[in-house]
Amino acid sequence: VRVVSDPLALRAELDRERSSGRSVGFVPTMGYLHDGHVSLVTPARQNNDVVVVSIFVNPLQFGPNEDFEKYPRDDARDNAICESAGADIIFRPDVSTMYGNGEQFTVDVGRIGTVLEGASRPGHFNGVATVVAKLFNIIGPCRAYFGQKDAQQLAVIRRLVDSFNIPVDVIGRETIREEDGLAMSSRNVYLSDEERRRSVALFQGLMLVKEEFERGITDSPSLVHAAEMHIRKASIEIDYIRIADPETFQELPEAKSGAVIVGAVRVGATRLIDNVTI
Ligand code: AMP
Repeated sequence: VRVVSDPLALRAELDRERSSGRSVGFVPTMGYLHDGHVSLVTPARQNNDVVVVSIFVNPLQFGPNEDFEKYPRDDARDNAICESAGADIIFRPDVSTMYGNGEQFTVDVGRIGTVLEGASRPGHFNGVATVVAKLFNIIGPCRAYFGQKDAQQLAVIRRLVDSFNIPVDVIGRETIREEDGLAMSSRNVYLSDEERRRSVALFQGLMLVKEEFERGITDSPSLVHAAEMHIRKASIEIDYIRIADPETFQELPEAKSGAVIVGAVRVGATRLIDNVTI
């Protein structure tokens, strides 16, 4: 795998590939890679001629009191994981390369950016959409792979591509979990052993909602209540547990098939999110 940091050189190289009829698969990440990321690189490898993984911890999507400074980083390990997953190119730009050319315009994602994860993290989805728009322009026409783990983010990316007619085919992939059900995340490294054992209650709570829905209960407050009880029993502080429309992420008073149960919690100092589709 080859590491590239210059956007213009990368775009020129990928344009040459496309001119020769070769397709590009793209996996944007913030690094500290795990099997969830690999599960995106694998189909990118299977279905495209050239595979690019970007690794960029995007300051724009972190709030002032969030973990940008201490977000886990390990370049050598990420390189090895990309290599063994079959990536051709790692795009690892500097912050100054991405944002250093004076005051830049940003993307405003509107209403979807103000609810649920967007309400808890003001500006987060504008930051995500801005960096992904830049990355899509750097990479050019491609298939881009995103995890359902970040369900609201995936919905934002789909609206972004539609809103600005970006020639990228967005592909969503299922959440990869640890054996006990905890969704894989770079942030899981923050958890102590004891917190790690308790943290599975989030996924279990979301699954409880799915099971109750399948038994015929559709009233969202009742469904969510069962999950909250289960999660609180594990001494986990809940940010939100809600049932939302999978495209707009507006809350649904009545659960329906295809809706997404989204949850955000704090286990000690670590914020975790997860979701399950019903
Ligand atoms: P991140 O590095 O956390 O920004 O994530 C980069 C991409 O990997 C995003 O599209 C995430 O949704 C996806 N991803 C992260 N964790 C998982 C997981 N456990 N399963 C599947 N995809 C994931």
